[in-house]
Amino acid sequence: MNLQPTEFPSLPQRLSGLGELAENLWWSWNPSARMLFKMLNRQAWKESGHNPDKMLRELPPAILQTAAENQDYLRYYDVALSQFQKYMRNKRFGLLDDFPAADTVAVAYFSAEYGLHRSLPFYAGGLGFLAGDYLKECSDLTVPLVAVGFMYPDGYLHQKMREDGWQENITEPLDREAASISRVAAEDGRQLVVRVPRIEPPIHVGVWKVAVGRVSLFLMDTDIEVNDPWNRGISARLYTGDLEQRLRQEIVLGIGGAEVLETLGIKHSLLHLNEGHAAFALLERIRDRVQSGMSYAEALERVRRTTIFTTHTPVPAGHDVFPFYLLEKYLHSYWPALGLDRDTFFKLGIHPERPEAGFNMTAFALRLSKYRNAVSKRHGEISRQMWQSLWPGIPVDKAPIDSVTNGVHVPTWIEPKIKLLFDKYLGPGWVEDHDAPAVWQLIDKIPDEELWKTHYWLKIKLIDAIRERSRQRWAQDRANPSIALAGGALLDPSILTLGFARRFATYKRADLIFDDLERLKKLLNDRWQPIQVIFAGKAHPADDPGKRLLQRIFNASRDPALGGRIAFVEDYGEQLAQYLVHGVDVWLNTPQPPMEACGTSGMKAALNGVPQLSLMDGWWIEGYNGKNGWAFGQEAIDGNRDQADGAAIYHLLEEEVIPLYYQVSDEGVPHGWVRVMKESIRSNAARFSARRMVKEYTAKFYVSALSEISV
Ligand SMILES: *Cc1c(COP(=O)(O)O)cnc(C)c1O
Repeated sequence: MNLQPTEFPSLPQRLSGLGELAENLWWSWNPSARMLFKMLNRQAWKESGHNPDKMLRELPPAILQTAAENQDYLRYYDVALSQFQKYMRNKRFGLLDDFPAADTVAVAYFSAEYGLHRSLPFYAGGLGFLAGDYLKECSDLTVPLVAVGFMYPDGYLHQKMREDGWQENITEPLDREAASISRVAAEDGRQLVVRVPRIEPPIHVGVWKVAVGRVSLFLMDTDIEVNDPWNRGISARLYTGDLEQRLRQEIVLGIGGAEVLETLGIKHSLLHLNEGHAAFALLERIRDRVQSGMSYAEALERVRRTTIFTTHTPVPAGHDVFPFYLLEKYLHSYWPALGLDRDTFFKLGIHPERPEAGFNMTAFALRLSKYRNAVSKRHGEISRQMWQSLWPGIPVDKAPIDSVTNGVHVPTWIEPKIKLLFDKYLGPGWVEDHDAPAVWQLIDKIPDEELWKTHYWLKIKLIDAIRERSRQRWAQDRANPSIALAGGALLDPSILTLGFARRFATYKRADLIFDDLERLKKLLNDRWQPIQVIFAGKAHPADDPGKRLLQRIFNASRDPALGGRIAFVEDYGEQLAQYLVHGVDVWLNTPQPPMEACGTSGMKAALNGVPQLSLMDGWWIEGYNGKNGWAFGQEAIDGNRDQADGAAIYHLLEEEVIPLYYQVSDEGVPHGWVRVMKESIRSNAARFSARRMVKEYTAKFYVSALSEISV
C-alpha cells in the first residue's frame, strides 16, 4: 500500500524526522516526542491544540532553522527519533508467535468510533476511548492487528452553554490536511476510492490511514466527489438519529470496511467486532467463502469460529434495531449472494423475545460469533440475562457470553509528572511490566510529601486551565458574567474537589448529588471544611432528557446559594478529561445500576492517585477493596433509589471523605488521604490497564480462534 506523502516544505533536512514523528500517533503517548514539538515553540504547540502536523505546517521556517542548529535540541531530537525507530522495529512480545499464518495480520478490528487524541475527533465517548486505547496497546504489545473505522469529516460537536442553560452544539469541520492522517494512494497516485460492493445505487468511500504506532487504522470517508449529496453525508456525523442514514452508515462500515481491506490486500484470520455497529462485515466474510464454493452452512461455521464480538452496554439505545423494510431496501441483492432467502436472512437478526421489532444488530453479531464478551464481570451477568433467549434450553448463568473487563492505556492516561515519580521509585522497568501487580507493591517508597505535592500541583494546573477558559468566554464571547462564574472562575485549589465528567445520559445520574439541596449546601459552604464539585460532559444532540439534566446542573452552578463551589466546564473531550482525571481529589460516579457496563474514566483517575467514590456497578465491583476509595449502593433498594443513593453519598462525604482530607500534618500533608491515593494506584493500576485487557483478549479468544484455523 502506498500513502500520498505528507509534505512539510519548511522542514530542514537535519530535522526531517520530525515529519516522520508527526505522522505517527506514537508521539501522543511518548513524552519524549511531545517534548520535541513543545521545545520548538511552546505557544505554537498550545495554539495547534497539541497537533504536531498542524504545528509543523504553520511554524515560521526561521524557528525550524534555529532548532536545526541548536545542539541541545538536536540531542533531544536524535534520542526521540531513535526511540521511535527502535519501537517500530521492536521484536514481538510473542503473544501470537505460534501462529505464523500466511496472512498479513491476525486480527481485523472494526469499530464505529476511535478516541485517540483531541486532534482526531472521531469519538463520542467511552466506546471510542476503549477502541483507541486498544489499538495503542496492541501496538505496544506487537499484536498483529489492523483496524477499520470512519472519518466523520464534519461531525465533531463542540459544546457551548446558552444563558438559559441549554446546550448548544457547534460543529467544527475537520481539517483533513492538518492532522496525523494520510491519504491512501491508488495506483494512479490519487486517493484510493473503494466501492461498497452489491449496494445499489452505488456508494463510494475514500480511504485514509492513521498510523497508531505499529497498528494501521483505515478510515472511510464518504464525503467525496463521486458520491451524490445523500451519500456524501453518510459519514458526516457519528450516530446520526436518522434511522435510514444510520443503516447506510453501518452497511458502509461493515461491508465497505471489509472491501477496503480486501482491496488493500490485507488478509486477516480473525474478525473482532467492537460493538454491533460493524456487524455487517460478517456478511462479506460469509459471501467470500460461499463465492469460492463453500456451502452457506460451512461458510457460516467457519466465520463463526473466527469471530470475536464485544458487547458494550445494557442500555437499550446502544443496540441498533432496523426495520425489515429498510433492510430489504438496501440488502435485497445480498442474501442471494449468500444463497439465502429473505426470511432466513432476517432470522439471523431477530431477538427471540421481540421478533417483530426488526433486525437487531447485537442479536445478529451474537449468533454469528463464537467468542462473545461483555466488558466487566457484572456486565457479563447482565448480558447473559439480556440475551439468554438466543440459546433456549441453556440456563442463564451458562449462556455463552464471557467477560473481559476494560482497561486503560497507561502511557496515554498517566500524567507526566506522576510518571516521573514512578520512574524514580518503582524502578526503570515499571513501564514494561506495568500489568504485573508486583511492580506496584513498591508504591510506598514514594514519600507521602512528594506524591501530595505533585498532586496538589496538578490540581492547581487544572483549576488554572478552567479559570483561563472562563476568562476567554468572558473576554472573547462577551458572555454573561454568570456564565463565566458557572464555568469555574471561583474554584479554589485548597478545597476538597470532586470531579464528575462523562456523557450526560440520564442513567449516569449526574444530578444525584443535588438530591438533598440543603444537605449539599452545608457541605459546599462549610466554613472550615468545604467541598467543591467540577462537572463536565455533553448530552447527545438528540437526547432532550440528557440536556435537561445538564441544564439543571448548569443552573445550580450559577446559583449564589451554592457559593461558586459548583462548576460546569464546557466542551468535555479528551484534553479536558486528561486535566480532570489528573487534577481532582475524588472521582465521583453515580450510575443507575446495572447500567454502567464498565466505566473507564475512574480507572484513568485511579492510576494517577485520584481515588473513586462510586456506586457499586461496572468495574468498581471488581476494583473496590475497602481501602482504595469509597463505595455505596451495594444493596438492592425498595422504593426511591435516587434518595437512598444520594443519602449514602452525603453520609460517606460527611463521615469519611471530608474528615480524612482535612486531617493534615504540621507540614501540610494529609497522610491518611495519601494512603488512600497510594492504595488506589497499587490495587488498580495493573488490573485495569489496557495491557492486562489486550493480553486477556489474546489468551482467551485470539489464540483459541487461531488454533482452530491451523488444524
Ligand atoms: C474515558 C473517557 C470517557 C469514558 O468514561 P466513562 O467513565 O466510561 O464514562 C468518555 N469521554 C472521555 C473524553 C474520556 O476520556
